[in-house]
Amino acid sequence: MRTAFTRWGRLLLASLVLLAACSSPDHNTTTPTQDPKTGEVYTKRRVVITDSLIRGRILDRHDSVLVDTRLVFLLKLPRRPPLDTLALGQLLGWDSTTVRRRIAEALPYPGARPQTRVQLLLTAKEAQRVRRDSAEWPSLLLSQRHQRTYTTHAGAAVLGYLGSEAQAFYRQAQRYRRGRFYRLRNGGVEAYYNGLLKGRHGYLHPLLDAKGQQHGTWAKDTTFQQGQDLHLTIDVKLQAYAEKLMGNRKGYLVALDPCTGEILAYVSGPVYDPATITAPDQAGVRAELLEHENMPLLNRPAMLANPPGSVFKLVNAAVALQLGAITPATAFPCDQSLVSCVHHHKPATNLTLGLKYSCNPYFYQVMQNLINAVPDSLVADTVAARHVNLAEWRRYVRSFGLDSVLGVDLPREAPGFLPTPEYYDKARRTRNWNYRSIYSLSIGQGEINLTGLQMANMAAIIANRGWYYAPHLVRAVGKGGPLPRFTEKHHTLIDSVHFAALVPGMVAVMQKGGTADASSLADVGITVAGKTGTVQNDEGDDHAAFVGFAPADKPKIAVAVYFENGGFGATAAAPCAVMVMEKHLRGYIAPKRKRWEKRIQSRARHGY
Ligand SMILES: [Zn+2]
Repeated sequence: MRTAFTRWGRLLLASLVLLAACSSPDHNTTTPTQDPKTGEVYTKRRVVITDSLIRGRILDRHDSVLVDTRLVFLLKLPRRPPLDTLALGQLLGWDSTTVRRRIAEALPYPGARPQTRVQLLLTAKEAQRVRRDSAEWPSLLLSQRHQRTYTTHAGAAVLGYLGSEAQAFYRQAQRYRRGRFYRLRNGGVEAYYNGLLKGRHGYLHPLLDAKGQQHGTWAKDTTFQQGQDLHLTIDVKLQAYAEKLMGNRKGYLVALDPCTGEILAYVSGPVYDPATITAPDQAGVRAELLEHENMPLLNRPAMLANPPGSVFKLVNAAVALQLGAITPATAFPCDQSLVSCVHHHKPATNLTLGLKYSCNPYFYQVMQNLINAVPDSLVADTVAARHVNLAEWRRYVRSFGLDSVLGVDLPREAPGFLPTPEYYDKARRTRNWNYRSIYSLSIGQGEINLTGLQMANMAAIIANRGWYYAPHLVRAVGKGGPLPRFTEKHHTLIDSVHFAALVPGMVAVMQKGGTADASSLADVGITVAGKTGTVQNDEGDDHAAFVGFAPADKPKIAVAVYFENGGFGATAAAPCAVMVMEKHLRGYIAPKRKRWEKRIQSRARHGY
């Protein structure tokens, strides 16, 4: 017993020593030691094998390099004015506006004292110019170092940043109320896959004699390991295009390949440049992002859960079909005494028309059948039945990956929320609540919350007629595949035939008389299946939502779009979604929609 303990103790000690050795990679030790046999004195050496480019790169799905470690050039301006900005501009080849703008962007906060030390990031060419004239500019300090460099202006919410390069941002964030919040939530794939990206230094431990000859080693050598490249699922061109449609608006756009769960575009709005967080000369821009009332640094598709609105009628219909509460042929009157209907329409004599017109009373009654029904019993609509049926509804809805994280490869994904019967017992302060007091679930309002990833995944599930792979951003790590959990197929508790029953209604939404008929892609031969949503918001303008997929019979892309305070789902969200579909499926936008595209991009720039 005692011997065993001592042995374990030694093992532990040995590993501690090794750890201690590894934690100081840039020092070579020179401790003399004597060989007990020969009496010769050897020196212990530690040699670190590393490479400034050790960290893996990040590439898009077509192998465009998006993030790489590169040599950057930094110019430190003198602390004390006056600085001849005109002459500085001439030195760098910048006009006076550029000089002023670049210095303003680099100041840590608006109105910072002019003697605050400013650093500017230079191109290799600009650095060359400074070097050439360095004799005339003794007060300028030029330096270079390796840093993560972004080759794209898109994808900030996906790419994230390297924590060790974001120290200035962290310090800056502490000045702001939301600073801690941001710091915890925006590392992107750079943070999520840090362990695989970073690689490993190698250590050699030679014992050397006075002549520098090696006599064995004094500790175990470790090999150098290059960090692995991340191959994203993102198509950077589609990403950049989608970001142009989002612009300064609040909201998200998520596009998935439903067959694989690969995320093709992941936009969190307002959008910003990924380099901003770690660039040494962007403190002023960071201050603006931190202060902005629309919270651009919030990673919306993964972090923020919103009421889905009418797009959730799809899920409720699928569950109601599965549980036998309705059939595809069920008709309900547009009875506005139950709930108001925003659309004037012909009678919804079946599910397809209910979806086409997005009739609120129709789906009020769908859910009512579900919650109040008691299968195989004469006693209908009892307290106990409502509890059982709501719990059953929730069990089926949860199988869509709701009310739990989907497991996307980003830090801190939010689970969203589906109310339980117990939740209502507590919130209503009685077990006696009835359908009337929870009916807003039927139209995707009230307590129910979904993230953007869950919304897009919901569209993918319908596209697949009942199953999904968890949405993910990395399709290959090094030469391997994605993380194992992303190749695991998830099945909902609903039969595929019931999903197939939803598709005609979703196709009808995009056709004449449907809620999004203006966003049809029929002119280019693409049948879109979609559903709009306009989410009532007590605190301001309504939110606009849209989910859909295309082509309807053989889906290759599923999209969810949400504009906070964006107004109508049909006019605001649907056009953006179908243009991303068109871009992905055809590569370009038909001339017919060019004017439309221009108008959307202009609205996006203005942020409304
Ligand atoms: Zn109606």
